Amino acid sequence: MRIGVDLGGTKIEAIALDGAREVFRKRIPTPRGDYAATLRAVAGLVGEIGEGTVGVGIPGALSRVTGLVKNANSTWLIGKPLREDLEDALGREVRLENDANCFALSEAVDGAGKGAAVVFGVILGTGVGGGVVVHGRLWSGPNAIAGEWGHNPLPSPTPGDLPLPACYCGRAGCIETYLSGPGLSRDHAQATGANLSAQDIVSLQGESVARYEERLARSLASVINVLDPDVIVLGGGMSNVRRLYTEVPRLWGPYVFSDQVATRLARNAHGDSSGVRGAAWLWDT
Ligand SMILES: [Zn+2]
Repeated sequence: MRIGVDLGGTKIEAIALDGAREVFRKRIPTPRGDYAATLRAVAGLVGEIGEGTVGVGIPGALSRVTGLVKNANSTWLIGKPLREDLEDALGREVRLENDANCFALSEAVDGAGKGAAVVFGVILGTGVGGGVVVHGRLWSGPNAIAGEWGHNPLPSPTPGDLPLPACYCGRAGCIETYLSGPGLSRDHAQATGANLSAQDIVSLQGESVARYEERLARSLASVINVLDPDVIVLGGGMSNVRRLYTEVPRLWGPYVFSDQVATRLARNAHGDSSGVRGAAWLWDT
């Protein structure tokens, strides 16, 4: 049995896979701000399932230097030896990865990137993250940040992209400040004066969505130039915007250093389940 846990900022979800078949699934609220209660909640879910390998996806990463959690927006996890504490609580070895990496792995194993040599998985949600899978194996990198394109600067900024929005990471003009859901809301408010949710802005099908697509095309083109993936799979709330899959590949050509672009832009196959499925697949190799 493979057990996957998605330890999110608002909910903790666990599944059990028997082969590729899902035999258990449960979702509970995250005890926000309480580290000990978070450990107990994960242990409780895994205890309900029983025997099996355990993979955990978190909104952050484990530092390869200290083994402690970093880059987590669930701030009560930062600086904690989460993997060791989970191993103590569960009495077994635990594999722990960034949630965007789990998303990319899930889509590469049996989702929209199945069979592709190089998959770049992208989260366009409340934040912007990413993960890289090469020949079915997750590539995390020595800094545990492979695929973290969201805090690169927006490429080739135009006057329409200014002023560069401040980012929580301390810099300005990060890709995330334009391409997250809140980023789209901010941009729309700046252009029109109206405060709308990303979903409402998308339903307008107006200039704000067109600007979003053009910025996404620029940003993904710089990823293509570095990684040259076979498939880019989109996840997160903005991945439900169907026109992205036709418009963005139409726009990214001039920014890619190639006479043609064979990279496919695909919608995820497993939706919200990809994070927890990918956590389970951490024990596939
Ligand atoms: Zn940033």
